[in-house]
Amino acid sequence: MKACGSLEGALAGLHVVIDAGPTYEDIDPVRFLGNRSSGKMGFAVADAAAQAGADVTLIAGPVHLPTPPGIERRVDVRSALQMRDAVMRAVEGADIFIAAAAVADWRVADYSARKIKKGPTGTPVLELVENPDILAEVAARDPRPFVVGFAAETDHVAEHAREKLVRKKLDLLAANRVDETVGIGADDNALDLIWPGGGESLPHTSKAELAKALVARIAAHYHARRHA
Ligand code: C5P
Repeated sequence: MKACGSLEGALAGLHVVIDAGPTYEDIDPVRFLGNRSSGKMGFAVADAAAQAGADVTLIAGPVHLPTPPGIERRVDVRSALQMRDAVMRAVEGADIFIAAAAVADWRVADYSARKIKKGPTGTPVLELVENPDILAEVAARDPRPFVVGFAAETDHVAEHAREKLVRKKLDLLAANRVDETVGIGADDNALDLIWPGGGESLPHTSKAELAKALVARIAAHYHARRHA
């Protein structure tokens, strides 16, 4: 394995696809269902992967972030279905897929092309349908890239994360606790890395530093797998 923490050239010559940010699920032309993801962690990971020499494709949900230097391609999307299409196109022949996006679990069943009005018919009831799980779909491909997922949990972090690793057939999963002070939207974070047969904690620090540590670990696991 390459030394942990060393980034230089760690992903040279590899195509890495990263999704980041939230998705917005439109209800009508003025309303949507969203979430509090800022995209900061995914963008920091994309930045670190580019610093490690990767050819990076960044698929971004609606975020207010500039493209980090050295990113070859950025595709901006809005909804989970658009993100899935962009990811599926990008992962064809890719070496590593990192799913850092907070993809909406549900979208509205019937988008209304006209603004839904308040009125005598009463409060509208939104019917939701489940969105595809982009990460699980990529992991089910054959051949498939090395697949890295994220898990934001409010409780029983380790337990839920390991269940997710197995169910979604991931190579590596980065889990974090989400509350008012850490995780979604914050500037710093801590991660528990888990993989089939092992685990490691990356301590609380800025998202930029954490992303570098994470990318170094991803590179080490990827190369160890290839040379196993
Ligand atoms: O199941 P949960 O949403 O907690 O899983 C989180 C992981 O799965 C993240 O890596 C996220 O990007 C990915 N995911 C996805 N498509 C979904 C839901 C989650 O790719 N529809």
